[in-house]
Formats: sequence, C-alpha cells, structure tokens
Amino acid sequence: MDQKGYIISGLSLLLMVPAMVLSICLLNTFSMGNDIKEQTIQSDKIYYASQDLQRNIPLLALEVLNETGEEVKINNLPYSNSPRYIKDELQSRINKFTSNHELQSDLEIKCTINSVHPGKDPWYVEVNSTLFLSQKEFYHEEKVSNQVPITQLVDPLPFIKCGVYGDLKYTENRILYDTLLSEYLQNQGEANSSYYTNASAPLLIHKCPYESYIIHGDENTRNSCINNGFYHYSADGACYLCRLEGKAVCIHPGLEVFILVPSLNDSLPLSAISSIDHVIFSDDIYPGEYIPLKFLGFDYGLFLDSAHRSKYGIP
Ligand SMILES: [Zn+2]
Ligand SMILES: [Zn+2]
Repeated sequence: MDQKGYIISGLSLLLMVPAMVLSICLLNTFSMGNDIKEQTIQSDKIYYASQDLQRNIPLLALEVLNETGEEVKINNLPYSNSPRYIKDELQSRINKFTSNHELQSDLEIKCTINSVHPGKDPWYVEVNSTLFLSQKEFYHEEKVSNQVPITQLVDPLPFIKCGVYGDLKYTENRILYDTLLSEYLQNQGEANSSYYTNASAPLLIHKCPYESYIIHGDENTRNSCINNGFYHYSADGACYLCRLEGKAVCIHPGLEVFILVPSLNDSLPLSAISSIDHVIFSDDIYPGEYIPLKFLGFDYGLFLDSAHRSKYGIP
C-alpha cells in the first residue's frame, strides 16, 4: 500500500513538473505583457504631451507677435531687439503652459525657446525650440522648428514712423494718415509732400494672391489687390520683426505695400516720392510718376518709380 502510494506520488510529481514549467512560463509572459503595456502607456503619455506642446508653441508665438504689434499701435514705440523680446515673452508663456501640464500629470516637461528669427519666407517668423519630456526612466528629446504666419497682424511700421507727429487714425483694416504722413515727409525734406495729405494704407498684413506680380498690369487685378490691401514679397522692404524695430528696409526677405494718395489732377505729369512703404519710410528715397486708380469706387492715385512699375507689370 505504502509502495503504491509512493508510485502515485512519483507519477503526480512527474505530471506536476511540466504543469509548473508551463505556469512559470505563463506568469513570465503575463508579467512581460504588463511591462510592455506599461511602457506603451508611459511613452504614449510622453507622445501626446509632446504633440500638445508642439501644437501650442506656434499658437503662443502668434499670440505674442499679435500683442507685440498691437502694443506698437498703441504707444508708437519701436522694440530695440524684437526677436529677443518675442523669444523671452514666448519662453515665459511656454513655462506657464508646461508647469500647468506637469501639475496635471506625472511627467517632467521642459521646452526651451532657442531662437526667434525672420523666416526664409517673409510671411512667417521662425521659432526654434528644444523639447524634453520624461517619466521615470523614459524620456524624449526633440528639436522643433515652427513657422508662425504673420498674416492678419498689424503693420507696426507706420505707427513708429508717424507716431512722433500724433496718433494715427485707423479703421478696421486701413490706416488713415490724415496730415501725419505729409508732415513726416516734409520733415524729411521731401518735395510735394502735401500730395500725401489724407493718404491711406492697409492696417493688417495680407498676402497678395496675384502672382506673378506682373499681372498687376491688368487694371481689374490691380484694383482688386489695392482694394483688398494686399502686401507683396520684397527683397528691399523690411520683414515683420524688423518692422517692429521701426526699420523700413532690412537684409531679410521682406514685404512692401502701396500707400494711396487722394486723386490728383493728372493733366500735368506729376511726380513725388514713390508710394511704396519701404521707399517712403527709408533714407533711400526716389520719385515716381502718378498713376490714377480706383479704390473702393473712389478715385485715388499712386506714385510709382520705374523699377516698381516693371515689377508689377504697369506700363
Ligand atoms: Zn498685389
Ligand atoms: Zn528683417
């Protein structure tokens, strides 16, 4: 009986060994599965936080750019180093954003704004940053470059240039120079500066869709461009960041816009400083010939030099 008992025990032991091996394997698989799941959750958390941060950098940068332009519209003062100002302001808003994020999660999030500078494309400001996100032993580091659009931002240049003579009037989308631009030009020693009394120009930056620019030679296209207050690419005109510093020209790819003058009797050949903003507001001034045009159904005019005439296909 005893012997039989041993035999049975031996058999059950033999049967138990593979069962134990199998359960150890299952346990291992189960716990490995847990590790993988845990890793995925942690890296997912990092991934989504990083995506959220990358979505918010350009939004916060746009907010800073917009407020910076609006500030100039109110106080007429240039920034001495606009990229530095925007970089610092953006950094402090990003810090607020990341510390809020950290409070709501167990992640460590750092975002350093490395630089803010004019884009290769003048319709954008470039923001470069380094992101660092970590959770326990997991971390993610990435360098990110964002192109922040400047369309719809206020053009600060006219406010800085004419603010000395008084506060510029403006409507929802146009600057009304009243006597301020003619005073500015007179002070610069410009002949026929009085032609610029009651001149007007766009308030906000909008990109002209009529490319290539020589199709502005067509009267309807030109009128549509001017009625919409479109800005144009210009190798001479200042970029947005330099406009915030009160510069009309700069070394970066930049912008230019037409400044309209009230209708003049053009039976005589008329000449005055060319009605391109970077010519008006720079030291490198040159005259243009008068061109009559329609602005929102009213007669207006423009002085245009030969280089800009050929750029826009105007005979
Ligand atoms: Zn245009
Ligand atoms: Zn510039």
